[in-house]
Amino acid sequence: MSHKETKRQPATGSAENLSQMSLGEGPGHPKPRGSFSIISLGCPKNLVDSEQIGAQLTAAGLRFTPKLEGADLIVVNTCGFLAAAREESLRAIHEAVDLKRRGFARAVIVTGCLSQWEGEKLLELCPGVDQVVGVWGEPKLGELATAILTTGRPADGRAYLPLEPTAQTSQSQTAEPFPPRLRLTLPHVAYLKIAEGCDRFCTFCTIPKIRGHYRSRPLDSLVAEAQALAASGVRELILVAQDTTYYGVDIIGRPLLAELLKRLDRIEGLLWIRLLYLYPTHVTEELVHTVANCKRVIPYLDLPLQHINDKILRRMNRQVSREEIERLLAHLRESLPGLVLRTTFLTGFPGETEAEFAELCEFVRQQRFEHLGVFAYSPEPNTPALKLEDQVPEAERKRRAERLMAIQQEIAFAWLESQIGSTVEVLIDLRVPGEKDAFVGRTYAQAPEIDGVVYVTGRGLRPGMIVPCELVARHGYDLVAAAVGKPR
Ligand code: SF4
Repeated sequence: MSHKETKRQPATGSAENLSQMSLGEGPGHPKPRGSFSIISLGCPKNLVDSEQIGAQLTAAGLRFTPKLEGADLIVVNTCGFLAAAREESLRAIHEAVDLKRRGFARAVIVTGCLSQWEGEKLLELCPGVDQVVGVWGEPKLGELATAILTTGRPADGRAYLPLEPTAQTSQSQTAEPFPPRLRLTLPHVAYLKIAEGCDRFCTFCTIPKIRGHYRSRPLDSLVAEAQALAASGVRELILVAQDTTYYGVDIIGRPLLAELLKRLDRIEGLLWIRLLYLYPTHVTEELVHTVANCKRVIPYLDLPLQHINDKILRRMNRQVSREEIERLLAHLRESLPGLVLRTTFLTGFPGETEAEFAELCEFVRQQRFEHLGVFAYSPEPNTPALKLEDQVPEAERKRRAERLMAIQQEIAFAWLESQIGSTVEVLIDLRVPGEKDAFVGRTYAQAPEIDGVVYVTGRGLRPGMIVPCELVARHGYDLVAAAVGKPR
């Protein structure tokens, strides 16, 4: 996982349950009548959790509404891995509680990483919250909501529900029904969360403490879910986990991502299969060969590197060296024509000297990544990095992040400019409100939410269509294009 922008995900809510799983009512509680809304914070993995929560609440008899005001129940699915993300989550909780106080909602339930991190303390920090549920309690949300909305009190009177991780993976490869989801993304785009947790223990990261050990979802269950998503109109499937390259290692002791991709590549209806959150040490030759030879797997790789200096990589416990990273990047560029690389770097990690930062800047100038996320190191409680000597002052951490982003901006703009005049396929995401022939879309080189977009003019287009477009101009990190071919 890397420090991606923790964005509040818009709950577009196409209220479409892939498969109804009857939760059954809690003992003695009638089916609640009413509506719910979800504030989904943080990363796409948390968004998938929000979708599963949505399916449960729908199965419990509640109706989804994208509008917070007027929802009987507001669920705040929080993010908690960085101080900034925790602050944003607290603001969202206070906003939900304020709506309840003013009579626009009847109950507030808080879930997600901040619940797992703060636990019961969150009830003190946020008076007015009805229930706090850790990440492992999310499968119980239907029951818990039913209790609160029908009795006004949490089930068994317990406002805080500490629960331990369930054995999500079985050693067997038997197909498990996939968890039902209320889709909150655009109808033609879906995330597939292939595993939970992480076994890397980077010294700056809180995720292993929040999400626990790495647990892969069974392969057959993922393929069945992807088939159902494709049948429901999904054209772009985005694979996510804390570390997608580690998929399968906890099950059979070796990576299974390549095998999963080959199975997904056979699914009719899917156009693009996108890979996020790769870890450099597990990008195997088999995986590279599979990406190169699968027709639906696009040559777009998100490979957070965090740093390039060997001393800093060791202090981060990144288990990879500069030389190994450079060899890998050269091999990827060679093996994957049209490769688009996204990565992430941290600046101001404890012990980073001006010279080591300069080394990072030079590396970024050389490698010319198409997309780059830069974050100033954030000292997090209960992480080994917090205890390291030679902490870099906050202002300096931020100054270095700005400098590195300025270097990258020139590279990114030059890359975007180099595409002008070319014809590329654009996946149409949205119609521009109030416009008949103006749309927002993306090329395969642009992941949703984290990369730029393409503004397209063209006739007879609809969201979910792919259309050949001529790129005519750059506008910041975005492109402008005209449709020139037949959509499909
Ligand atoms: S421990 Fe490392 S690999 Fe795992 S989620 Fe954190 S940053 Fe990512």
